[in-house]
Amino acid sequence: MNYILYDKNFITIEDLKIDMEDRGYQFGDGIYEVIGVYNGKTFKMIEHLNRLERSAKELQIDFPHDFRFLKESLEKLQSLNGLQNGMIYLQITRGAASRVHHFPGSDVPPVLIAYTREMNDNSFIQKKGVECITTEDLRWLRCDIKSLNLLGNVLAKQKAVENNSFEAILCRNEIVTEGSATNVFIVKNGVLYTHPANNYILNGITRSTVIEQCRKMNYKVEEKPFKTQDLLDADEAFLTGTLIDVVPVRKINDYNIGSGVPGSITIGIQQIFNTLIN
Ligand SMILES: *Cc1c(COP(=O)(O)O)cnc(C)c1O
Repeated sequence: MNYILYDKNFITIEDLKIDMEDRGYQFGDGIYEVIGVYNGKTFKMIEHLNRLERSAKELQIDFPHDFRFLKESLEKLQSLNGLQNGMIYLQITRGAASRVHHFPGSDVPPVLIAYTREMNDNSFIQKKGVECITTEDLRWLRCDIKSLNLLGNVLAKQKAVENNSFEAILCRNEIVTEGSATNVFIVKNGVLYTHPANNYILNGITRSTVIEQCRKMNYKVEEKPFKTQDLLDADEAFLTGTLIDVVPVRKINDYNIGSGVPGSITIGIQQIFNTLIN
């Protein structure tokens, strides 16, 4: 059986009712998280819930549950669904109320939904790397909030798919920010670079984990903006994100990155990452 966590209850899809005037549905007025599950264990659950709590705070959405209760509920959902490898998707909207743009009254409770899904097998792209395109970053200026408003991301990813590419790498005024649903790293002369965690990017848990592990291995990591041209001229490039872990980028806009195959530092980081999740 595939259960859904709806507010505090475990229900089946047949029993799920979404209100037409849920603000998530009408305004994208809500937040979400995607939490990885590897070999029956959640990965970095606390970090994800901390980020969720922060997103809620930034948007003045009431965090509906006690933190600990939510963590236990998500773990129960995972075990009820027998999920071994996959993800827990969780979203909280500002609630359902008669449609007006401004916030509804404090009597309107936020709506929390979580469900699980099996993981796609990513071993092929992790090994072979992917092709990407660059495109203008058209999103708003609070990309640090993991909000349900994903139109800029959706349009960018669609463009990538139409160009037979895996990911769209977003550039704002010639500065590489991140991918449509991933963070971007480059390697140049043995040093790693990634955009600083400010309002222009979503600070990925995978990103932070990679930075921490790289520093442990004595790689130099610079959280500094770099240009689109630096991306194309990089020795290596890779993407990070919960559903893909660490994926090498071998081509961007039809230009080879380095020699067009996954680089040695990227492969080293993938190996370290694999030891963390296994
Ligand atoms: C979720 C997300 C990421 C990756 O974050 P992880 O915590 O590593 O999964 C990167 N960029 C955007 C825009 C995202 O929404």
